[in-house]
Amino acid sequence: MSLSLRDRIHAVLEQLKHDGLYITPPVLEAPQEPLTRVNGREVVNLASNNYLGFANHPHLKARAREFLEVWGAGSGAVRTIAGTFSYHEAFEQQLAAFKGTESALVLQSGFTANQGVLGALLQPGDLVFSDELNHASIIDGLRLTKAARHVFRHADTGHLEELLQAHDSDGLKLIVTDGVFSMDGDVAPLDRIVPLAERYGALVYVDDAHGSGVLGELGRGTVHHFGFHENPNVIQVATLSKAWAVVGGYAAGARELRELLVNRARPYLFSTSHPPAVVGALVGAIELIQREPERIERLWDNTRYFKEQLAGLGYDTMGSQTPITPVLFGEAPAAFEASRKLLERGVFAVGIGFPTVPRGKARIRNIVTAAHTRAQLDRALEAYAVVGRELGVIA
Ligand SMILES: *Cc1c(COP(=O)(O)O)cnc(C)c1O
Repeated sequence: MSLSLRDRIHAVLEQLKHDGLYITPPVLEAPQEPLTRVNGREVVNLASNNYLGFANHPHLKARAREFLEVWGAGSGAVRTIAGTFSYHEAFEQQLAAFKGTESALVLQSGFTANQGVLGALLQPGDLVFSDELNHASIIDGLRLTKAARHVFRHADTGHLEELLQAHDSDGLKLIVTDGVFSMDGDVAPLDRIVPLAERYGALVYVDDAHGSGVLGELGRGTVHHFGFHENPNVIQVATLSKAWAVVGGYAAGARELRELLVNRARPYLFSTSHPPAVVGALVGAIELIQREPERIERLWDNTRYFKEQLAGLGYDTMGSQTPITPVLFGEAPAAFEASRKLLERGVFAVGIGFPTVPRGKARIRNIVTAAHTRAQLDRALEAYAVVGRELGVIA
């Protein structure tokens, strides 16, 4: 018996709808700004990762145009053939200097960075210890390797130590964690993880997608925040798509790491390099971070203000320590309903339920940026006050 393609796809989609997992992405009808447009309505945007307000910034756009004019629209090859340009290498050197690491290598995205770096690094016989809340791209990256995996309870260094005691190997031992966790906004306890790693002869791999541009002096990231950036046994991976607001991923660390990746990271070897305008905009971002450090202060001021006000309304922000501000609604339908009602009141904030987060922990995930004004945050808070009371989540 054979199934037609349409039948197969319909069956899959029906199952997703039945499970409440069917996705219809919201469409933005104006640029990525604190005020944007969704469904024809102007909304306060609490849904983006545009932490520093760079996504539509004139300086990044000017640099992108300049690179486009000088170097063209495309790069024309993968990095190892004829797709490495002087502008790629110059940006990587700027990035390494900014991160305070010996080297940096840029890949197409944060997602491919995890695939490329984990795939290049890990061999059969190696052991991986991975936080249970790590990002999907880490999970997929690990699946591409033949290393044995042990998952530790979220940020639980006691459990991590039990696993390190129970499993030893002559190969590499690698502890893998997000720097800032994308759904809860908490920070990995690197102050405990790195010493544990040293005690058990393990390396540490930090995916700092949400910490880069946000935490540490000048936004140098979670590893810098904890002072481990010069430790050659700490590997940093991060994205250029969130606070950096363009697209790309990178690995930063020891000189030898870059050398290995140039030879072994499959997205580097087999997928075309970034076009000039992307690198130009990224050069603009690194310039602006250093020229306007007050943006990071504004990001944190706004973060503190928004969290305090939400708590004042009676909301549970789930212990978040960063601009990622979850608001607990309990079951997924309640979170989705709240998100719809907020949108009607001009607030764009996305509901997240199982399986992205545990059952009973459905939430709306807000991200405050440096570019939001107090008036915009107040407008969002007013909507939160009304919607929360309507739904009986706050008194
Ligand atoms: C967003 C994210 C990624 C993916 O980065 P992209 O540059 O968007 O591909 C990887 N890891 C974590 C932890 C993320 O939050």
